[in-house]
Formats: sequence, structure tokens, C-alpha cells
Amino acid sequence: MKDCLFCKIANGEVESETVYTDELVCAFNDINPQTPVHILIVPRKHIEGVNALTEEDKEIIGHIFLVARKLSEEKSISESGFRILVNSGSNAGQVVEHLHFHLLGGTRLKPI
Ligand code: AMP
Ligand code: ZN
Repeated sequence: MKDCLFCKIANGEVESETVYTDELVCAFNDINPQTPVHILIVPRKHIEGVNALTEEDKEIIGHIFLVARKLSEEKSISESGFRILVNSGSNAGQVVEHLHFHLLGGTRLKPI
């Protein structure tokens, strides 16, 4: 997608603090962190959001959770706890229309 910020981050056109990358996903620090650990995990494939998911995306979504698990261990938040969050649509506050998973931790999170 030509004008998509997260596609540009994934392909290196826009700089980010990358913490993990592979053939399916990339993960980078959120530019406006809400918690001590705030990482965005995004598929390399341009998927606009949860509403745009299809059967063929199953592998990517499963993979994203395994990457989140790995990163939570690397950032030493796996035992203390963390939250994985996806905003979908305007009521949820989705700003970037490229599917992304927030990995939040390093502090006690407010109950939702
Ligand atoms: P959402 O509100 O779920 O769409 O989340 C978008 C997230 O992207 C927000 O937490 C922003 O702080 C983050 N963000 C926006 N631009 C960048 C950027 N260039 N690098 C890293 N994170 C960004
Ligand atoms: Zn995109």
C-alpha cells in the first residue's frame, strides 16, 4: 500500500525502533508509549484491520501471538504480565489503518 505508514515502516521507507523482524511480521517501539514496554507488532501484508481479515490470514495472526510471547520474554514482562490489544474502527480509536497489535507491559495496567 503506497501511502500506508506501517507498510512504509515494514519495508524500511520510514524509520522505526525495530525490535523484531521476520518474513511475516515486524515489531517496533510505539512512538508515543503508554507503558514502559509498548511495542507494535504488524503483519508485513497490508491488512486494514480486523474487519478485513480472511481465512488466509490465520497463519499470520497465530504467528503474531508467538512473536508477542517471545518479545514479552525478551522484555522480561512475561511473568509480571502484559496486555495484547487491537483497536478496530473509530469507536475503539483505531488511527492507523494497517492491522497492528499493541504489546503493553512493564507496569500495572488499568483493568478494562
Ligand atoms: P491505534 O490507535 O491502535 O491505531 O494505534 C496507532 C499507534 O501507532 C499509536 O499508539 C501511535 O502512537 C503509533 N504510531 C503512530 N506513528 C508511529 C510511528 N511512526 N512509529 C511508531 N509508532 C507510531
Ligand atoms: Zn499497510
